[in-house]
Amino acid sequence: LPIQLKDSSLFRTLSYIDGKWAAAADGSAFAVDNPASGAIIAQVANLGAAEAEQAIQAANKAYKGWRARTGKDRAALLRRWFDLILANADDLAKLMTLEQGKPLAESRGEVVYGASFVEWFAEQAKRISGDILNSPNAANRMLVMREPIGVCGAITPWNFPNAMITRKVAPALAAGCTAVLKPAEQTPLSALALAELAERAGIPAGVLNIVTADSERSIAVGKALCASPIVKKMTFTGSTPVGRILMQQSAPTVKKMSLELGGLAPFIVFDDADLDAAVEGAVASKYRNAGQTCVCTNRFYVHEAVYDEFVRKLAEKVGSSLKVGDGFADGVNQGPLIDDAAVAKVRAHIKDAVDKGANVVAGGKPHALGGRYFEPTILAGVSEDMLCMHEETFGPVAPVVKFTDEAHVIELANDTEYGLASYFYSRDIGRIFRIAEALEYGMVGVNTGLISNEVAPFGGVKQSGLGREGSVYGMDDFMEMKYVCLGGI
Ligand code: ADP
Repeated sequence: LPIQLKDSSLFRTLSYIDGKWAAAADGSAFAVDNPASGAIIAQVANLGAAEAEQAIQAANKAYKGWRARTGKDRAALLRRWFDLILANADDLAKLMTLEQGKPLAESRGEVVYGASFVEWFAEQAKRISGDILNSPNAANRMLVMREPIGVCGAITPWNFPNAMITRKVAPALAAGCTAVLKPAEQTPLSALALAELAERAGIPAGVLNIVTADSERSIAVGKALCASPIVKKMTFTGSTPVGRILMQQSAPTVKKMSLELGGLAPFIVFDDADLDAAVEGAVASKYRNAGQTCVCTNRFYVHEAVYDEFVRKLAEKVGSSLKVGDGFADGVNQGPLIDDAAVAKVRAHIKDAVDKGANVVAGGKPHALGGRYFEPTILAGVSEDMLCMHEETFGPVAPVVKFTDEAHVIELANDTEYGLASYFYSRDIGRIFRIAEALEYGMVGVNTGLISNEVAPFGGVKQSGLGREGSVYGMDDFMEMKYVCLGGI
């Protein structure tokens, strides 16, 4: 093993289909690397469309029995899975840092966050219930039953190798659905370790299947999931272009879709804000996971009266609190970017901004450590014509724009196809309601840069996606309503 684990059987490199560990039919495998060093850490089974079809069949076979269990039964198994995830949190965190690069403390935080969805939906499994409606016809009785939608296909990204899986799989399984999951090619180890723990928890064969594939075969696996008439629902987290492809591919079979796509989060600091709190929130929302989350702030708008002070304080805070390095090293809170393409995109955004007149207040270049490490960067004097104001940077770059007028800044904040997370700082209660209502976003953080937890409905509007994950609403996407009309009473 490339790493010391308490329980080495959590290090899995084969896919998991119908309760068995499965290699590709042609024996193909793909390399997974450690973003901190570029070193190969595992060769993982590289499955294709045919194996995806087997997984779909397995999920279909398991569906009947799984949906027939009581919610209480499914809850007990999910609860056991939750307990096992927490009991193995250290190992899961190490695997995550190894394949994803995020600092170990952040990985551990994600494991606990990911587990919270399993706990939450274990609890919700017991609360699935229907309604009796008040019929307009005295001789009728009208019932609404809530039923699982069926076999679900799930595709997840690399930035949260654990939580994006549990946030989809836990509500699916709680609802009585079975699932075929294709994790990101960069981070399959976290997914496979979760499958190992699901098996130990007693989740029956076929209920959760994991199909691993490299980037090329992922496309084929995605096609197989979307095209299958057995798969009734696709749930995806990733980029907006891929979300569009999956939606298109799912049109012929008219699947229900949950999509958590890109964002371009604005972070607005008004002149009445608590500036120290705003700086704190800015660092948390911008540099977490090295800026590689879909709710990370992409663009800061700061009122002209506090602009200079905000930029100065942000630079101080970034300079004093962010330590770049290997996620396993003590005190590090910014790891490497996921791959070379991510570094290239960050460089391109900075170059474009500087060419158009922005000035670099902090960072601005690859870190002296080399590889995929990048300096936490702040750009001032930023204007709307720059790439970083319209494209998701997905890296540790904070472009700061000066604004004067409230109505205008809201226009700018909303002038995008995206609508996932947004943030603003103000202490005026009237303004807080006005701005929270005016922002065309699925989520608004007011005086905080951290908004995600299992109780909150996570999701976007516009081209940031469809549906909500987590919360009391999160199971709706995995269920159908059935209306039953009893006549002649
Ligand atoms: P990112 O840019 O964050 O890697 P992607 O949307 O490219 O986001 O990837 C998210 C997930 O979607 C990964 O699991 C990846 O393998 C998968 N994926 C990428 N392209 C396709 C596709 N054409 N069909 C199905 N899955 C895909």
